[in-house]
Amino acid sequence: MMRVHASGHTDVGQVREANEDAYHVGDSVFAVADGMGGHLAGEVASSTALEPISELDGHVFSDAAEARAALRAALLDANKAVVTKAADDPQFQGMGTTLTAVMVEGRRAHIAHVGDSRAYLFRDRTFSQLTTDHTLVQRMIDEGRLTREEAARHPQRSVITRAIGVEPDVDVDAMSLDLVPGDVVVLCSDGLTGPVDDDAIADLLESVDTPNVETDERVAGTARRLVEAANDAGGPDNITVVVLAFEELPTAPSPKSAGPAPLGA
Ligand code: MN
Repeated sequence: MMRVHASGHTDVGQVREANEDAYHVGDSVFAVADGMGGHLAGEVASSTALEPISELDGHVFSDAAEARAALRAALLDANKAVVTKAADDPQFQGMGTTLTAVMVEGRRAHIAHVGDSRAYLFRDRTFSQLTTDHTLVQRMIDEGRLTREEAARHPQRSVITRAIGVEPDVDVDAMSLDLVPGDVVVLCSDGLTGPVDDDAIADLLESVDTPNVETDERVAGTARRLVEAANDAGGPDNITVVVLAFEELPTAPSPKSAGPAPLGA
């Protein structure tokens, strides 16, 4: 049995007047959304998109395929919900949001995303990006026209090629990950990854291993420190971080019997 410790933190940053990011930290479902479309509209887009995601929280699925399908369906529902709201009210016209969500199911994490909010994995002191940004600069990197370093400074680095709530249909990227005890997964908006590079994020995540501190406290502290790092680097955008740490729970001793093991043991 895998237990997840999770904490989310969001901040307006040093430049923006409002925070259009939103996040969800539940029991089995976690997500970050970075809204756009101007004051109010961006906030409405990100919070609307999180509703169908949070409704999945606590659901038990019969298998991985069903869980993955449900998560994908929730992102499509999120798209529909934002599109509908934008069509119903002129002040919300043109709004949209990124959405990066994780659902924990047994010993697996299912990840689905649209836009440039990222999911990272920190495992055995190795840090890797799980999601691929839906951005103009990522497309140019894929085509070999730009390096990662050039992309980080590119004037059009924040232009996204896919968003929730803009078109009636949206392509959702989804993947599944077999979890290992000690894994740390980070979800974040580009307000973190713009001003803070991957090496600096990885260095901060090392501190999740601090001994003699309760895991919940470490996870919360890590989320706060990542947000602080973005603010220290100028905080040009809203910053949102969700940190998940996975821990093996000791299994209950199995009763000596010839019958099948009790479910849920
Ligand atoms: Mn942003």
